[in-house]
Amino acid sequence: MTVRRIGIMGGTFDPIHNGHLVCAEEARHQFELDEVIFVPAGNPWQKSGVSYAEDRYLLTVLATASNQRFSVSRIEIDRAGPTYTHDTLRILGDFYAGSALLFFISGADAVAEILSWKDPQSVLDQAHFIAASRPTYELGPRLLESFGDRVSVMEIPALAISSTGIRQRVSSGRPVRYLVPREVDHYIAANGMYLD
Ligand code: NAP
Repeated sequence: MTVRRIGIMGGTFDPIHNGHLVCAEEARHQFELDEVIFVPAGNPWQKSGVSYAEDRYLLTVLATASNQRFSVSRIEIDRAGPTYTHDTLRILGDFYAGSALLFFISGADAVAEILSWKDPQSVLDQAHFIAASRPTYELGPRLLESFGDRVSVMEIPALAISSTGIRQRVSSGRPVRYLVPREVDHYIAANGMYLD
């Protein structure tokens, strides 16, 4: 049986931007992944004021449509209640039933918080974690010590782009063209997102 290598790109994606896409593609290359599944968080319970899940889902579909190795899952959008990565990885693990190795890709700051997530040990057992780091972000030694070989760090220069920065630019009337895919720029404008 061929064991597939599947990347799970977890994030709030409010909105998705070119840094996320560069990150997913670099992880696919570095870790020899067969595909990357983007999983927009349905109800990121540790945050408030997040945009509608359907908007974030559609933006993610628009941004990834041109890459055959990328797809988007509604697994967290359609699940009621707070979004726990533990549940997502368990469901995906059951689905692949031993025929895939899972690699969870997310921001280094998010991965650094795993110990505050639900069932952190189980989360770390279910996937290898790829922590995407911005050039200025110093990953604390605590993270490396506590997670051992379950976490790999990957520096992504394009991650200088941030969702927070995109929202701020839109709300103050500045362009986000070339920071996000063109379709994402159009969707944000057409739906009046991030205008406070
Ligand atoms: P976040 O706190 O918004 O993100 C932290 C940092 O990581 C931000 O700088 C963010 O940049 C960046 N980032 C987030 N996702 C990324 C990705 N896929 N690739 C590269 N950079 C990324 O994190 P979040 O988006 O809420 O959560 C990230 C993932 O962790 C989600 O899948 C979420 O469900 C999971 N999570 C799980 C639990 C739990 O199970 N209890 C708790 C918290 C988070 P941008 O703002 O530019 O994206």
